[in-house]
Amino acid sequence: MMDLVLKPGRDRSLRRRHPWLLSGAVASQSSATSQEPGQWVRVVSAEGEVLGFGDHSPRSGIRVRMLSFGKDEPAVDWLENAVAASMARRENDPLLRESDAFRVVNGEGDGLPGLIADRYGEALVVKLTSAGMHARSDRVAAALERASGASCGLLRADPVAARREGIRSEGRLLWGDALPESLAIREGDCHFQVDPVRGQKTGFYLDQRDARKLAGRLAKDRDVLDLFSFTGAFATVAARMGARRVTLVDSSGGALEGARAHLAHNAPGCEAQIVQGDAFAYLRESEDDYDLLIVDPPPLARRRADVPKAARAYKDLLLHALRRARPGAFLLVFSCSHHVGPELFRKIVFGASIDARRSVQVLGSLGAPSDHPVSLDHPEGHYLSGFLLRA
Ligand code: SAH
Repeated sequence: MMDLVLKPGRDRSLRRRHPWLLSGAVASQSSATSQEPGQWVRVVSAEGEVLGFGDHSPRSGIRVRMLSFGKDEPAVDWLENAVAASMARRENDPLLRESDAFRVVNGEGDGLPGLIADRYGEALVVKLTSAGMHARSDRVAAALERASGASCGLLRADPVAARREGIRSEGRLLWGDALPESLAIREGDCHFQVDPVRGQKTGFYLDQRDARKLAGRLAKDRDVLDLFSFTGAFATVAARMGARRVTLVDSSGGALEGARAHLAHNAPGCEAQIVQGDAFAYLRESEDDYDLLIVDPPPLARRRADVPKAARAYKDLLLHALRRARPGAFLLVFSCSHHVGPELFRKIVFGASIDARRSVQVLGSLGAPSDHPVSLDHPEGHYLSGFLLRA
């Protein structure tokens, strides 16, 4: 077993079970420690106490992802057990009964740093975001296949993680005969087609399932604006639930093609306007008003340094959204940047309401559903913040 020894006083976060060991905390490593990414290491305090075991990633700022804490080596079948336990949590979760698409392994949130797996009906779409999980991809695939019973599994390429970890980004079939080009899923009353290879994330925004349901409950007889619509999942649920009219805006033509098909299939009678373009510009130029507005932009702050600029962009977006909101309109607004969390996002909404000269009520907080658990040990796992507002 290879040892990594910490600098004095740098053991605190591991003692609180934080799963990341950052490179700056490491004093030395035993000479046997290979520079090959994805080796298993033992982490030792400056005083020589064994703190736990994890995946070594010599080229990443996150030098080790902890897989167990304490002096005992993990059991030989730790991976198989953790994958099966993660899936069993979904099976036993009464909040996950209305869809056949959900996240079955959520990385650190499920005690499996570097492993993401989403179930879309009979298929699993997998991301391996650490050198360690990447190095044992065959074993991960076998564990996922066994625990899920899914008929096929696809590994999605993840170029961002690959660069950080110094590994090769590859997409390939992990098991099964062939992956269908498009996967059919059901969410509540609605049916969607997911493109697991070209679609964003692993093909669908599973993390907005609860918010979509809420949008549906608010949609009847309303004029709905779905900004940053992607494949129109929000608008489709709203249309299905009786919206008078839905307007979708996204910059991606491919995503909007999917949206058109989703609307035609699930709510053929609903009037729909589909706009390909910049959502910021659309809000500034449009003169239409709405009763229900969904504002779900991509992450505007990927790093902490981006926060000031992102805060201005979010505020600008919300200000213009408020200007298009009829009196009494509902808004569902989101930040999916970890660095713009609920407290800051609330202040940004407040700033926008002042500039818009609108008094805005907060009716509720929104976030990812229970198939995206965040471990208290790992606050960085929280990324989706949102509010239900009444203007
Ligand atoms: N609400 C969607 C997910 C939105 S993801 C759902 O529930 O499925 C963010 C979307 O914003 C992506 O589809 C991306 O194509 C789009 N996008 C990014 N920048 C944009 C811009 N400036 N204007 C319009 N759309 C944009």
